[in-house]
Amino acid sequence: QAKLAGKNCYRFYSRAIDQAVEQRVQIEQELRGAWARGEMSLAYQPVFRLSDRALVGAEALLRWQHPEQGVISPSVFIEVAEQSGIIDTLGPQVLRVACRDAMRWRAARDHDAEPLFVSVNVSPRQLRAGDLPATVAACLEESGLSARQLHVELTETTVISDEAQVTALLARLRLMGVKIWLDDFGTGFSGLSHLRRVPVDGVKIDRSFVADIPRDPDDLALTTAIIAMAHSLNIVVVAEGVEKAEQSSVLRDRGCDLAQGYWYGHPVDIDGFLALLHAQRAAVEAVG
Ligand code: C2E
Ligand code: MG
Ligand code: MG
Ligand code: MG
Repeated sequence: QAKLAGKNCYRFYSRAIDQAVEQRVQIEQELRGAWARGEMSLAYQPVFRLSDRALVGAEALLRWQHPEQGVISPSVFIEVAEQSGIIDTLGPQVLRVACRDAMRWRAARDHDAEPLFVSVNVSPRQLRAGDLPATVAACLEESGLSARQLHVELTETTVISDEAQVTALLARLRLMGVKIWLDDFGTGFSGLSHLRRVPVDGVKIDRSFVADIPRDPDDLALTTAIIAMAHSLNIVVVAEGVEKAEQSSVLRDRGCDLAQGYWYGHPVDIDGFLALLHAQRAAVEAVG
């Protein structure tokens, strides 16, 4: 009896795995060519400076408008894109469009307004395969965007593995003037010694730490420590996932530099972002 149940259990388990594999294979098939079919686009989430609430830039986030399933988040398909190698063609396209769009923002702003940065997520494979600095240089050249306005976001774990090679690559990008930000900071726990060795300009505190601020004293203590540590190394601190006014004011009081999150604005398409810029400009003109 028990043996039978075990067998059934195994069958059930193996069927669940089959389904997961099948689903992964299907995502991979549909993902291949999704960009060429025009199903993919970039959404932009605004990033604000906490001290004066000024808009300073935006993060580019990939969106997949699936013909049947609607919008699919990159958290579902980026891993497939990475493992299948689809990211090798997708990654450079994302960079190209982000640089091109950032030039369009300039036209929507006053001439004397601070130039906005665009921040692009880059996955581990993009650092290992292909020549990222060359791709970046080509995108800057083609769009006319200044390297200073481009940020590259990498996760801590990307940087920790294969440190020597990654450090050399990041150094090349920084020499061009591109800024390097460490994404989801705090989750990989790389700590102070690591930040000293790897050349980075900013850290983005993972939203899991921000979520319970100010209720959770541990999260607040950790965030405060990250800010102090980063500032001692001249590294900019960004808080991700700010959803409440209270979080924003506590983070500002603790000296956090920049913030993004639903409280400030959801990711929007390029037209939505241009509309936001026009609205900002109109508001400034109405005051001044
Ligand atoms: P990430 O870089 O950490 O991006 C932040 C994610 O948090 C985004 O999810 C964003 O929509 C979401 N978010 C922003 N504000 C809030 C908030 O206040 N509350 C909550 N709960 N969430 C918020 P999204 O767009 O689904 O992207 C997921 C991840 O996929 C990104 O995490 C990034 O690692 C990756 N990704 C996105 N676009 C690209 C890309 O073009 N290339 C690569 N390689 N990875 C990408
Ligand atoms: Mg990011
Ligand atoms: Mg993040
Ligand atoms: Mg917590």
